[in-house]
Amino acid sequence: MKEIRLAEPNYSVCRYIEETLAKHGFEAWLVGGSVRDLLIQGKLSDLDYTTDALPEKVQKIFPRTVPVGIKFGTILVLYKGQKVEVTTYRADADYEDGRRPNKVEYAKDLATDIKRRDFTVNGLAYSVTRKELRDHCGGLEDLEKKTLRTIGDPIARFTEDGLRPIRGCRIAAKLGFSVEDNTRKAMLACVSVTAKVAPERFYDEWRKTLRMKQKRAFWQNLLEAGIIGAFLPDIAVAFDKEHSAVLLRELDALHLKSMAAYAASLFYLLGVRDKETARRTMLDTKFPTAELKLALALLETPLLKIQDQPDRQTLKHHLAEVTRRDRGSHMRFFLDMGSATMRTKAFSTEAIRAFRDSCSRHFVSILRSREPMDTTDLAVNGTDIQQLGIHGRAVGEILERLRMTVVADPQANNRENLLRLAATN
Ligand code: ATP
Ligand code: MG
Repeated sequence: MKEIRLAEPNYSVCRYIEETLAKHGFEAWLVGGSVRDLLIQGKLSDLDYTTDALPEKVQKIFPRTVPVGIKFGTILVLYKGQKVEVTTYRADADYEDGRRPNKVEYAKDLATDIKRRDFTVNGLAYSVTRKELRDHCGGLEDLEKKTLRTIGDPIARFTEDGLRPIRGCRIAAKLGFSVEDNTRKAMLACVSVTAKVAPERFYDEWRKTLRMKQKRAFWQNLLEAGIIGAFLPDIAVAFDKEHSAVLLRELDALHLKSMAAYAASLFYLLGVRDKETARRTMLDTKFPTAELKLALALLETPLLKIQDQPDRQTLKHHLAEVTRRDRGSHMRFFLDMGSATMRTKAFSTEAIRAFRDSCSRHFVSILRSREPMDTTDLAVNGTDIQQLGIHGRAVGEILERLRMTVVADPQANNRENLLRLAATN
């Protein structure tokens, strides 16, 4: 095994946790995803500790704590601006219906705690002060073989918690590991358990792949395991051979900045054009309202009405129909979906690059120019129009017409000219 070297400030935090607990007669092990990432990437993602001290003890021993998950034995310890999750050894029992355990049972030893964890590569424990690695589940071997495998019988473990197959697909993708055969077969065998998992837990897993480079591998793993239907039942039929191939081809090249863009791209590439199906899928997956609204707006973006490579004025005209705040999102979505469509039609890489470069240049030029695009940019406002003796809905209609005039011709945006246009309307 390669030597573990922990950089500051993590080293000091780990020493603090381990030494403080040891002083009170308790053990402490860095555990789970943190050890996995430390071994693979040489750096820590988040700091997760497990200990034989009960949560109340952890709260007493450390001066600054937050009881973030006290029901599950987890206390957050704060130290020099760092956060460490400290969880008491657990032996999870009483899983009901493939969901989280009903009640938490604490355990006395590390080996028992490791057995309740999901995958062997997530079951390694490390003591920073003692430089000692504990492997109670064959995690090290699987780490070297780049294999994702459950701790214990996969069917039993997925029956306990139906989220694990989705976690498995995500973690294998993130690490570039392959899912071990029996583990993958069990994912399909337990698909009905996975289908019962609370949708917000799915959303969290999906969200965690937003910043992941290997998004394609995540979806490929879900498809290979045959469990898309449990994850996204409303659009499972859209994952036919042809559409899945397009989706997988494009995924890693997308410029996704939000879950809204992620979902909209997925719907678009899968050929899901029905707004209601998209809305239902996001409602069922507990998308935050703002993300849901933006995703639906992206799917209907006026930019996609552009047929050929647009000139500056055409692009500006369509951008002016989009809420100012969302123009960047619409632009990225348009470029991504436009490129995907061009690839489907066998355009050359150079042609696609030329399309992107030209549109991006126009976009930057339009934004920098500060040319008027919105009603609030007009040299007149509603009160000015009312003073012309115009009232009610007509005011908004006139402002909208003036806005279109100045989008076409920025020079037209002066007060005198606009008042004259409004009066003669
Ligand atoms: P990442 O942080 O990259 O999402 P992770 O493996 O660290 O992955 P966390 O959700 O941070 O995932 O969980 C920390 C550890 O807790 C895991 O490594 C695993 O040992 C354990 N764990 C998390 N969720 C489950 C679960 N549903 N069933 C069993 N063990 C779990
Ligand atoms: Mg983690």
